[in-house]
Amino acid sequence: MSIPSEIRQQVRQRANFACEFCGVSETDVGGQLTIDHFQPKSKGGDDFLENLLYCCIRCNQYKQDYWFTGADDLSLWNPRQEAASIHFLELDDGKLLPRTPTGEFTIKRLRLNRSPLVTYRLSKRRQAEEIRLLKQYKDLIQLLGQLNEQLVTLVEEQQQLLEEQRELIRFLLRRNQ
Ligand SMILES: [Zn+2]
Repeated sequence: MSIPSEIRQQVRQRANFACEFCGVSETDVGGQLTIDHFQPKSKGGDDFLENLLYCCIRCNQYKQDYWFTGADDLSLWNPRQEAASIHFLELDDGKLLPRTPTGEFTIKRLRLNRSPLVTYRLSKRRQAEEIRLLKQYKDLIQLLGQLNEQLVTLVEEQQQLLEEQRELIRFLLRRNQ
């Protein structure tokens, strides 16, 4: 019944230790997530790697034993087969907007716009923005450092020039004495 630990390990690593539906990671929740059978075992799903997903407890609970039963049935997004960007667009307010019927169904079924998840996306965005600003700031500091070095060289050259001028004046004065 239970998944062998080496398979579990492979699923975790393959998913980069984060829920393949919503992106929440083990670090975010402070513990391991669950293994989900995309095609539920009760609906004929197997324990092979291709049918296994790394999934947070919430997404797993909302997904339950969903499995589409016919051509007319709505299908759930399979993160192992298609990129999220095909089915969802993340808005500035942290909510997901569906791009396809599958996206729309998945958002509803897994409550992908549940409020803690929206807050989570917003904080991830802020973090990314802060990292971007920090990088810009570092680049600016580096540029200022380079400018400063150029300025020092320029001042040195000027001093050198002044020195040469003084020598020339001294030479001329001596000659005219
Ligand atoms: Zn999740």
